Amino acid sequence: MTVVPVKGGGEFPVHRIYCVGRNYVEHAQEMGHTGREPPFFFTKPADTIVYVPEGETGRVDYPSLTKNFHHEIELVVAIGKGGRDIKASDAKACIWGYAVGLDMTRRDLQNDAKKQGRPWCIGKAFDQASPIGPLRSIKDTGELTSGAITLKVNGQLKQKGDLSQLIWNVGEIIEHLSAGWALQPGDLIYTGTPAGVNAVVKGDVMEGEIAGLGTLKVAVG
Ligand code: MN
Repeated sequence: MTVVPVKGGGEFPVHRIYCVGRNYVEHAQEMGHTGREPPFFFTKPADTIVYVPEGETGRVDYPSLTKNFHHEIELVVAIGKGGRDIKASDAKACIWGYAVGLDMTRRDLQNDAKKQGRPWCIGKAFDQASPIGPLRSIKDTGELTSGAITLKVNGQLKQKGDLSQLIWNVGEIIEHLSAGWALQPGDLIYTGTPAGVNAVVKGDVMEGEIAGLGTLKVAVG
């Protein structure tokens, strides 16, 4: 069973990982889309989580098969109360808390899959594809609807956005997701990445930060 430690003590057992595709306009545009499409989702196995304690540098191995290994910094929402057909206006009660996460991507394999109309699994759902920092309870953070989200590689700013720029906000994501799946306690939702996705290579150090949630530091081994 995969668990993510909670800031201040305790553990959050992970059920599933859902990811939202293209949820910031400028990132949708850099991927060749308008940013006006309905939300869509993909999943990653729970055991792709790589937990990185705050203040430490975690590590992911450079994965096999790819020559274009991309970072995507994302707000992760942890579900505490599940359900089906949850309205956006009721979604806040389902949120247990938040974390900083990376939706690591073998972009070349994902792009091949897109071209051929094949599943994204090989580009998205590989081993160690989901680094994450400690979870913080919404009781401590309050509901997060705005705040800077950034990613640096070797100290250089690569991705920069604000949570207020989400095309589909967290409540709307939960409404759409719960129409397709019964959400359950332990589900994690990676909510999409701002513009500036780029490749990393062995030896690079990624440092993601979201206002109120601290930093997530991961080296590529
Ligand atoms: Mn993503």
